[in-house]
Amino acid sequence: MKIVENIKKIGLRELSNLFFTSPKVRRLMLPLVDKKIKSNFMEMLNRSYEVPAEVEGQYWFVRNLLMRGSERMDEKFLAPDIMKIIFSNFVDNVLLKSSEIRHKAYFEENIEKPTLLVVSPTNRCNLRCTNCYAGSDSKNAASLDWDTFDRILTEKEELWGSYFTTISGGEPFMWSDNGKTIYDMFAKHKNQYFMVYTNGTLLNKENVKKLADAGNVAPAISVEGFREETDARRGNGVYDKVLQAFANLREAGNPFGISVTPTRKNADLVMSDEFVDFYFEKQKALFGWAFQYMPIGREIDFDIMVTPEQRLTMYKKSKRILNEKGYSYVDFWNNGYLSNGCIAAGRKGGYFYINWDGNIAPCVFIPYYTTNIYDIYKNGGDLNTARESKLFNEIRDWQSDYGYMQPKEKVGNRLMPCPIRDHHQNTVKILKENNVKSLDPYADEALKSNRYHEQLTQYDKELARVFDPVWREDFVNHKQDRKAA
Ligand code: SF4
Repeated sequence: MKIVENIKKIGLRELSNLFFTSPKVRRLMLPLVDKKIKSNFMEMLNRSYEVPAEVEGQYWFVRNLLMRGSERMDEKFLAPDIMKIIFSNFVDNVLLKSSEIRHKAYFEENIEKPTLLVVSPTNRCNLRCTNCYAGSDSKNAASLDWDTFDRILTEKEELWGSYFTTISGGEPFMWSDNGKTIYDMFAKHKNQYFMVYTNGTLLNKENVKKLADAGNVAPAISVEGFREETDARRGNGVYDKVLQAFANLREAGNPFGISVTPTRKNADLVMSDEFVDFYFEKQKALFGWAFQYMPIGREIDFDIMVTPEQRLTMYKKSKRILNEKGYSYVDFWNNGYLSNGCIAAGRKGGYFYINWDGNIAPCVFIPYYTTNIYDIYKNGGDLNTARESKLFNEIRDWQSDYGYMQPKEKVGNRLMPCPIRDHHQNTVKILKENNVKSLDPYADEALKSNRYHEQLTQYDKELARVFDPVWREDFVNHKQDRKAA
């Protein structure tokens, strides 16, 4: 009781320090923090545009991170010094400060500010995975230069109060320019937080130490299942290197997650208890992202896309993993409700994508562009120039028509939220009317192929047949679980 009394007397900063360093204080505070988070989510239900079942899912996502994070601290797999940086960069800057800036800009000035960018600084990669979305390999060396990459990161913070950046690739840890590496970039932007999609093979002890020293980076490492599935797609020996990377990260107390590509072949496996228990319980991943295979990139193959029926099974399992098993493992696109639908094209709270050539696409999965960051900077523009392009505006109009920030009764089915994949025909029309250029030859071929569009359009029809009744049942007619949110 004495500790509780003392807790009440001290400030937030000291309290957070105690939370990270004292297991005793942490145990006492956890239920209070959970209660506070829950009441914040409950307040959201007063807004006309919030769908209650979505808010419930969002609460579980945040709660799971809190509970798992706390467990990892107790187990000493998250270092207190790194957690302090996470608190100040991620909780304070990304979740609190940044969302306040966005909210104010939107409601008081009618300006939309994105939360993050995805930047792929290099197309170089040390692997050559089958169906790579980016078509990367070791020979292709296109990369952003230091000054441009640095300016992007500085500018997003200045213009939007954006403190979060996702780094993708190619293999991000291979990027360097003029003797400076990605670790130098993390150190230069030490008040921001980075999530890095990586194959994990370069995360040896020495490099993991550099990450832990920076303290502001969480890698999301790709796995396709267990050894057999991972090595089959990524190459022999990759799985063992990934397990070694996990061990190095645990030892350094640096948080990490997994990134998975569910296909028709591995969808059951990567949503199974065996899989999630292994990666979240045994390997100690803190978060996970499952990006269902999207027919873009190298060796486009419709036969490995998950079927609509498989996608329904995945939806049910992912809900159980989130709400019952307590893991923050997000299934794109089935968990589209966690982000209130599509976040592409720089909408409020959303993002856009800049690749190694400086080309700017609405989303990693919409590999088309009309603007380029080098050209924009040469002509005196900034990141908002890209955000205000006609292409991006039209995609945001689509998002709005589909229900983003609209009264909840006008919200479309967010179990199929993706404009390029789940509503392909509409999006292709927008792309063609804007005379887009393609990020790579595979995307170009796809855009010109009627067969490609027909196959995705047919897929979307099947998807709506399967998912519209589920959306009605689980979201429109949802009875609020008062225990949850
Ligand atoms: S375009 Fe599709 S993949 Fe990209 S953010 Fe929107 S829903 Fe997600």
